[in-house]
Amino acid sequence: MKKRYVFGAIALLLLFFTSCQKKELPTEDGRLKVVCTVGMIADLAQVIGGDYVATHSIIGSGADPHVYKHTAKDIKLLQAADVILYNGFHLEGKMGSVLEKMKSKGKSVHAVAEAVIQKETLLKDEEGAEDPHLWMDVSEWRKVAQHIFETLAAKAPEHKAEMEANYNMLDLQLDELDNYARTSLQTIPKNQRFLVTAHDAFGYMERAYGLQVRGIQGFSTESEAGLKDLEELILFLKDNSIPAVFIESSVNDKNIRALIEGAKAQGHAVKIGGELFSDAMGKTGTYEGTYLGMIDHNVTTITNALGGKVPQEGCFGKLAQ
Ligand SMILES: [Zn+2]
Repeated sequence: MKKRYVFGAIALLLLFFTSCQKKELPTEDGRLKVVCTVGMIADLAQVIGGDYVATHSIIGSGADPHVYKHTAKDIKLLQAADVILYNGFHLEGKMGSVLEKMKSKGKSVHAVAEAVIQKETLLKDEEGAEDPHLWMDVSEWRKVAQHIFETLAAKAPEHKAEMEANYNMLDLQLDELDNYARTSLQTIPKNQRFLVTAHDAFGYMERAYGLQVRGIQGFSTESEAGLKDLEELILFLKDNSIPAVFIESSVNDKNIRALIEGAKAQGHAVKIGGELFSDAMGKTGTYEGTYLGMIDHNVTTITNALGGKVPQEGCFGKLAQ
């Protein structure tokens, strides 16, 4: 008789542990389906949502959101989502209006940057166009992270505590990265703090961390760069004795190469200081394929190429050497 009780107790215990495990790690179907436009949003959503969300980024590594054309498959993914997160401020070009239409039909669609960043604080060009590249200032992107946490927690209130713990940990890392960016870029000699890139994606880095930034193309990569813009930038490079310019992983490097050639013809040698992640993160599965890694890579690469000094392995010791 006693033996039977023991077996019964073991069976009950096993049942108890399996059901606990199921609660801890829900099945694929139980997770919140979060579809995002760009990786910089999807990565935060996955870190914050942890085991309770399955995120997908429509515009992948190396792709340019300004000119991205959505496919029929993307629309299917968006329709199947429980929550859709996008940047807004016209970053997503044509897809922005598709998302607004979905929202008007009752879908859970959230423009996460637009929701927390005051329009009046945005950078603008001469024509009044707004700069959507807010992730370049980590302190601005921290506000977006908080909004993503609140949005996901409202959708899955039963997992709010776990998500809050993930969010708090992420927020500490974002704070550390923000400080790292500020102190690193300040090690660049003052007269060399010039960042020249393919398009104007780094304006918020200029505002937050004190670099002077110039891009060949404007906020969007949609329009062609004019010959006049190139000539002006060549003079700018020469006048300021700028030693390095940077290519971007999501933008064709032909304009940057023309700039280097043009400077050379004027007797000023410029090299490529490295590849930066402007509108897309690095390869999925790598550290550079996360928001923290992307910014860490940019800051470390820019600092060291322009005569400042930071360890090659970056803020968290994780950068590929
Ligand atoms: Zn851009």
